[in-house]
Amino acid sequence: MAIENPSKIDGNALVAMCLSRAGVDRMFGVVGIPVTSLANKAVALGVRFIAFHNEQSAGYAASAYGYLTRRPGVLLTVSGPGCVHGLAGLSNAAANAWPMVMISGSSDQSFTGRGDFQELDQIAAAKPFAKFSAKATDITKIPKSVFSVIDSAASGRPGGTYLDLPSDVLHQTIDESEAEQLIAEALSYRKNQLIQNPRVSNSTTIQKAVELLKTSQRPLIVFGKGAAYSRAENELTKLIESTGIPFLPTPMGKGLLPDSHELAATAARSLAIGKCDVALVVGARLNWLLHFGEPPKWSKEVKFILVDISEEEIELRKPCLGIVGDAKEVVGMLHKEIKDDPFCLGKTHPWVEALRGKSNENLANMEAQLAKEVVPFNFLTPMKIIRDAILGLGSPAPILVSEGANTMDLGRAVLVQMEPRTRLDAGTWGTMGVGLGYCIAAAVASPDRLVVAVEGDSGFGFSAMEVETLVRYQLPVVVIVFNNGGVYGGDRRNPEEISGPYKDDPAPTSFVPGAAYHILLEAFGGKGYLAATPDELKSALAEAFSARKPTVINVVIDPFAGAESGRMQHKN
Ligand code: ADP
Ligand code: MG
Repeated sequence: MAIENPSKIDGNALVAMCLSRAGVDRMFGVVGIPVTSLANKAVALGVRFIAFHNEQSAGYAASAYGYLTRRPGVLLTVSGPGCVHGLAGLSNAAANAWPMVMISGSSDQSFTGRGDFQELDQIAAAKPFAKFSAKATDITKIPKSVFSVIDSAASGRPGGTYLDLPSDVLHQTIDESEAEQLIAEALSYRKNQLIQNPRVSNSTTIQKAVELLKTSQRPLIVFGKGAAYSRAENELTKLIESTGIPFLPTPMGKGLLPDSHELAATAARSLAIGKCDVALVVGARLNWLLHFGEPPKWSKEVKFILVDISEEEIELRKPCLGIVGDAKEVVGMLHKEIKDDPFCLGKTHPWVEALRGKSNENLANMEAQLAKEVVPFNFLTPMKIIRDAILGLGSPAPILVSEGANTMDLGRAVLVQMEPRTRLDAGTWGTMGVGLGYCIAAAVASPDRLVVAVEGDSGFGFSAMEVETLVRYQLPVVVIVFNNGGVYGGDRRNPEEISGPYKDDPAPTSFVPGAAYHILLEAFGGKGYLAATPDELKSALAEAFSARKPTVINVVIDPFAGAESGRMQHKN
């Protein structure tokens, strides 16, 4: 019998070494053939591997981890179906412009095309969602492939990249000294290749932007999750407070400046976008979420100044003025340019007053709604109780995860974001099923923060098995399920829609009424609460927030409260 040469390492070990050298310290995934040893070797090198039940949730976690930490989140999957499940995460990273690397094992290259175990052309499958892909066709190709997928994910506009590792390559061996040599070569190649983020073209564009803002009667500053990713909060605060220009965050931009800021136009959104004449849009796309920047939501005359890391994005929207560059850097330059010749709208400026007046009016109306204690619960009564409990926590604010139709829409209006990057929701794609993956990513990325998920029951169901993952790693995550018995809630069909041989089946939107989601977590040793009244909810929240242990609070909502499809009714 041949004695294994101790100085030899296999492909699995080499991938783990490269990941660790590249600074990867967390990985999300599901192990199995042929990548189990890769995960074990990575753990032995100090990488924390968070093992999930399903690659879809692990992929969503990796994408959010990339957003929260600004370093690519890494997903590890098995071949074929594992890769296909993981594509959900990769596509979500692409849609949201978040850095993520998906690494999948693949079948043996010598059997390609002959129906090998879990055989799939994974490079082709990943192509629509990956900004760059690499396949290590031989063990010597591993170091360069690993570094290039990691670097590409975070460069320029962030996004997903894909690395394919055939099982034969993972089992190939080389001398450890040769491996070190290959890593050294790949690292020096990497240093030369590191793609610089685009530099802001010239100071003339900055001057033009400032001129537009200065001469505007009704300026507005809009910022989104690209600005949050860039960590532009200090620069935005300086720019906004020195000029007195009102601001409007997108859902995940919320918190860069606190929602309670006196220049926040969030509660006067329609007026702000309908009447502004110059909008400085930072790290947010003029896509469906911002009504494409077009009438009737925006005025016909509005001039857009668009700041984005992606030149393509600026080409696509053809704003009045486009500035390609990093949000933090560009906003800093705008502020500096203004400082030399300052201007400030001031509190009594008619535009500022109009927005503040409308905001106050809308906020007062909402508070009046929230003040009514409705039992059985509508959406607003428990949302107010949750808002107050979260605000009671102070700083560091918890990271809020939110998905669902009514639950997410109303949550966005009622729940308050006071700190940057403390909101994760269905995002650009309106992705349902992100909930538990995002919770786990947030807990792993920000161990000092509590994580609170406010989810519809249908959103929760997509990833509910991952509550076991919460318990296994003892993550401080409190999942609050708004349980109204289905998608949108109770059976809302018109009588004439209910016919045919299966008319007695539950409606396609209905789940088992009274589902005991809180017991689900208890099966694994976590803590569950059922809350049907304000007192029950308050005491469950108080206990859960102080325990900081995996918790599910099952909130019983009237199945007929809320609107079908939330605010997207016109599309359904
Ligand atoms: P939101 O959903 O908040 O409106 P989007 O995802 O639509 O945000 O837009 C985010 C934009 O931010 C993307 O177009 C992306 O290219 C851009 N972006 C990403 N990173 C940066 C950065 N560092 N600086 C500026 N823009 C960025
Ligand atoms: Mg529901």
